Amino acid sequence: MLAVETAESLIFQAVQVPDAAVDCDWVPLLEAIDRVLAQPVSSELDFPHWDNSAMDGYAVRYDDVATGQVATGQVATGQVATGQPGAITLAVVEEIPAGVAPQQTLQPGQAARIFTGAMLPLGADTIVMQENTQRQGDRVTILVPPRHLGEFVRRRGGFYQAGQPLLAAGTRLGAAEIAVLAAVQCTQVPVYQRPKVAILSTGDELVTPDQPLQPGQIVDSNQYALAALVQQSGAEVLRLGIVPDDPAALQAAMEAAIAQADIVISSGGVSVGDYDYVDGILEALGATIQIRSIAVKPGKPLTFATLPNTLYFGLPGNPVSALVTFLRFVQPALKRRSGLATGWQPNFITAKTGCDLKSDGKRESYLWGKVTFQAGELCFSPAAGGHNSGNLINLAGCNGLARIPIGATAIAAGSDTSVLLMQGIV
Ligand code: AMP
Ligand code: MG
Repeated sequence: MLAVETAESLIFQAVQVPDAAVDCDWVPLLEAIDRVLAQPVSSELDFPHWDNSAMDGYAVRYDDVATGQVATGQVATGQVATGQPGAITLAVVEEIPAGVAPQQTLQPGQAARIFTGAMLPLGADTIVMQENTQRQGDRVTILVPPRHLGEFVRRRGGFYQAGQPLLAAGTRLGAAEIAVLAAVQCTQVPVYQRPKVAILSTGDELVTPDQPLQPGQIVDSNQYALAALVQQSGAEVLRLGIVPDDPAALQAAMEAAIAQADIVISSGGVSVGDYDYVDGILEALGATIQIRSIAVKPGKPLTFATLPNTLYFGLPGNPVSALVTFLRFVQPALKRRSGLATGWQPNFITAKTGCDLKSDGKRESYLWGKVTFQAGELCFSPAAGGHNSGNLINLAGCNGLARIPIGATAIAAGSDTSVLLMQGIV
């Protein structure tokens, strides 16, 4: 039995990260959602593209209004407003909605009506928000002077300067990144090809969910769990179905899977039973078996093998074991293989356990349950019911796997515990 850390590093070292020169697709922007950027993106555009207003209000010259005095030489339009000590009045010479280029250069004593996002006219350097003004015809009185030069102006290039790196290769493209690409008019996006992952279920006892169940048979739920997990990890799923425990049939299926996929995941047939043929077939196919079992519970029998162009994961058949070992070992490998530069590692957080967590101490153990926020703290409550590797039912609704380290037999209620997040915290 390999220690979890040893197994993990063997697996991560074997993962080949994609090569942007060969593993790159150019796709339209909306097809890039959730894909991983294969090349760095920069833009020839500044962001904002030009000086613009952050408020509905008036574009002014700061020197005109800063002191509450009109700049020297302004007699016709700049006047101290009656009843407002220090307030001044400017001539409104232009109206600039968003999307329209200003036509005039603002002269001392002048203001332009301006709206959020609209381009600043030449000569203006500061915005006074509408709420701090009073408009009368073609004049505006500044009731509250701006606090500083440039107030409510978004400067050209203030958020991003043309030519600087914008998004790095290896970035996952979520909503914010897609919006950034749209804003800089990047409509064709270089993304890594998704790794192809073949899934097969082994076992004479297995039937598909739409087949009538005969006594003793078991529904192949792993195919569906693994398809969901692979898809959520950003890879392309090739569902290869059920293969009986027949060495010739299994060898043919494994060979076909290895030929067409970057990663093969089978479940079942890796234990020490009479019908567990996976390891032997891998050896016959020339694979290097790197791992046969890991000191983890659930999930001890786990085969990991490397072939020239393919990684092979033989997961245990028990539904919970298959799911836990996928999350702990396969998912990070898949995310790494999909090109993610950061954030591909297992996502452990610290939460307070609501009750005692127990283990036999012989293997690193995982108990499934729910992580929630309670009074501002992350808390973990184990799922009710049996925690054995065949009980798939109480896994539904869980979002975390509490880890009890090897050697530890209990984590007391109220203590901090490390939890592998399976999905978001609600
Ligand atoms: P095995 O590792 O092949 O000995 O299988 C261990 C247990 O997991 C057995 O009870 C199998 O019936 C069950 N099992 C194996 N494969 C699957 C599967 N694809 N879906 C659900 N249960 C399975
Ligand atoms: Mg089996």
